[in-house]
Amino acid sequence: MNRKKISAVTIAIFSALAACSSPAAPDIGAIQTQAAQQIFATLTAQAPTVPPAATPAQTLAPKVEPTRAAPPTVTPQPTSSLPSAFKKFTSDVQVSIDGAFIVLKSNGVPNHKSPYFDRADPRYEAYNGTNPRFRAAANTIREQNLELRIPLNPRKADAPSRTLGGPIGMALNGVAIFNQYAAGNQPLTDEINGFDQYNGHPQQEGMYHYHVEPLYLTKNFGKDALVGFLLDGFPLYGPVENGKTLTSADLDAFHGHAHATADYPQGIFHYHTTADAPYINGNNYYGNPGRWVGAPGGQGQPPQGQPQPKDSPPPRP
Ligand SMILES: [Zn+2]
Ligand SMILES: [Zn+2]
Repeated sequence: MNRKKISAVTIAIFSALAACSSPAAPDIGAIQTQAAQQIFATLTAQAPTVPPAATPAQTLAPKVEPTRAAPPTVTPQPTSSLPSAFKKFTSDVQVSIDGAFIVLKSNGVPNHKSPYFDRADPRYEAYNGTNPRFRAAANTIREQNLELRIPLNPRKADAPSRTLGGPIGMALNGVAIFNQYAAGNQPLTDEINGFDQYNGHPQQEGMYHYHVEPLYLTKNFGKDALVGFLLDGFPLYGPVENGKTLTSADLDAFHGHAHATADYPQGIFHYHTTADAPYINGNNYYGNPGRWVGAPGGQGQPPQGQPQPKDSPPPRP
């Protein structure tokens, strides 16, 4: 190994250590969501008990082993055609390319049953999940014109941007993915008790969405499977990897990490769902987000600081 390579590896090691050992960015939800975590642990049948968090150094020791082969690339090779992973969207989603963006269109209605369909609807199913505190909110599921435009060639952002209210991604069945907050950046403590047996619920305009692991997808495709994409074009996987159930302690501040996956053998940054907050994504996107259009009123995602789409009110008493 020549000196250039050695210094490159050294820089990579220090970057990795710095990224992983620095405390998480100030997280206004972290403390508030502790209660939500406890509730959530009782909610999910498959919820693992959270083991004592390993120190970052212990967790990451194998990853910075200098004798290991070159780290996986975080950014896949530029392409002008649709990456094969996008063929995993169900027929509920229209996938196309428009210039530098992949366009994902759906009506946002889940391809599974829910207590949030009208009772006369054949897709209605009374709650049969595992949360004894479940209480249905007043909202019902309504068709949307969801359109997400995500980068065809996702890249790490120079300056990370925050996730906002409304869709931050799309699950493989066309359902919107929301971040770890309820309306007004409030913790999900109350909302969690309104999640149906597949971990979703509709907001006030009837847009059904997941804030946490989409149980219908991980049940059918596997706990370690690709389950969707976030607005920055990076993929989202279930909570299991190589037989291990991950927690947020295994992931970086964006709630992901980079390595080869079945869909991206060359390696890619990807998010994982976990049973503990923030469940899907940290406060920021790893890459530069595209945008969602088709919001009620037809506008795109409001700029930061503007009014956010409303999520569900607390469940009925
Ligand atoms: Zn992974
Ligand atoms: Zn919600």
